[in-house]
Amino acid sequence: MSAPRGRFATYLDTLDLTSREYDGADVDRALQHPGLDALPALLSEAATPRVEELAQAARAVTLQRFGRAVRLFAPLYVSNACLSSCTYCGFSKGLDVVRRTLSVDAVAAEAETLTAQGFRHLLLVAGEHRVEVGADYLVACVERLRPVVPSISIETQTWSDDTYARLVEAGLEGVVHYQETYDRQRYAQTHLAGWKRDYDRRLSSTERAAEAGVRRLGIGALLGLGNDWRADVLAVAHHAAWLQREYWRTEVTVSLPRIKPSASGFQPAVPVTDAQYVQALAALRLAVPEAGIVLSTREPAALRDGLVRIAVTSMSAGSSTEPGGYTTPGEAQEQFAISDARSPAAVAGMLVAAGYEPVWKDAFPLRDDVEVPA
Ligand code: SF4
Repeated sequence: MSAPRGRFATYLDTLDLTSREYDGADVDRALQHPGLDALPALLSEAATPRVEELAQAARAVTLQRFGRAVRLFAPLYVSNACLSSCTYCGFSKGLDVVRRTLSVDAVAAEAETLTAQGFRHLLLVAGEHRVEVGADYLVACVERLRPVVPSISIETQTWSDDTYARLVEAGLEGVVHYQETYDRQRYAQTHLAGWKRDYDRRLSSTERAAEAGVRRLGIGALLGLGNDWRADVLAVAHHAAWLQREYWRTEVTVSLPRIKPSASGFQPAVPVTDAQYVQALAALRLAVPEAGIVLSTREPAALRDGLVRIAVTSMSAGSSTEPGGYTTPGEAQEQFAISDARSPAAVAGMLVAAGYEPVWKDAFPLRDDVEVPA
């Protein structure tokens, strides 16, 4: 089913995201008056050597808005079957990898393992396969997990029918759809076939989810995919601010995963260095101070530990990117390699040692029909 062009796409067309040159005085002004308008200067080459200043400013904003609390979640891969071809992904259609779609019972078993580790926020992840991971299947998964998992989100294909509403009715709280790159030309070069090839369908998906009652929206860009990472970070910030304005009842989170090795063999067009990565996350915090920032286990432990002190408000831990990877590992292909292999308890211990509170469950869940298990 086709999806209409979204309202944010029209807004995005009015923005000039092309990078230009800035100097030290521009960076000074941006640090004195941070915000969306200052973001291009904060992301500029002139600001990279001043990443420590950006980090200090971002840390102050993060502590003021979010305190010393970091939400922990786990991805639960339900399927790696996929009918789309994305050049950077280990699940891409046509790749000769072992495919697996979990039964609802197997999904429940994975969730049981994760809740035993302490998790109460789970993100159900799947490739785009309308037959193996259809709406009925996802609704059944959410209904099955609902009594024991207070916060369930999905990262699956986008939907243009009543699926988001059905999932909300079943107990879904959040939807994550990363645009990967906001550059239409580069998007077309890297999304070769399948529903994900439709740029506008993907870009409008969070609008449709919000209108169906989804309470948490996750957006992001895959750094290293586009030719201009600064333009993609700028687009993510504008997208987040727009969603916050239009759907003020929803919580908006942003994420900037970097490309990792996968069965696709994809090499980043323009790799993003660690210093640039810290710069991007710090600048994002200063531009959209109320957006949660999510960090995955793609990044190495030492970098993650540092980013928690700067901008991050939510992180995964002990992740497997393989369907069934928590209970029956080794039976299917993983999506990409993770870098931080520490256990959830070790990550929680790191947070406590750094003076932060690991938040396994929200004190006041967005869904009011669930009794939060102890
Ligand atoms: S990124 Fe998503 S849609 Fe694209 S190949 Fe991977 S799983 Fe499929």
